[in-house]
Amino acid sequence: MRLLVRVMVLVIAILAALSMLRGALSPSAPGRAPATGRRKERTGKLLKDPVCGTYVTAEGAPTARRDSEVFYFCSDACRQQFLVGSSQES
Ligand SMILES: [Zn+2]
Repeated sequence: MRLLVRVMVLVIAILAALSMLRGALSPSAPGRAPATGRRKERTGKLLKDPVCGTYVTAEGAPTARRDSEVFYFCSDACRQQFLVGSSQES
């Protein structure tokens, strides 16, 4: 009888350990969906206006290119100022 109790306790302990392991693994198993984070970034990404420091969204913002970099501006006035400044530098 004692052996049976020991075996039962052992089995219960193993089952408990397995369920704990599954519980620990299952939330991360489907992948913590990095897509949701990326999606959030893509839609609401804020870009700094290099002229006045205002944060603007890429959608509908005036842009200017310097070398291979694209800059976003809060207004066309800032864009013009940036273009004038960059042409004076070089
Ligand atoms: Zn600006």
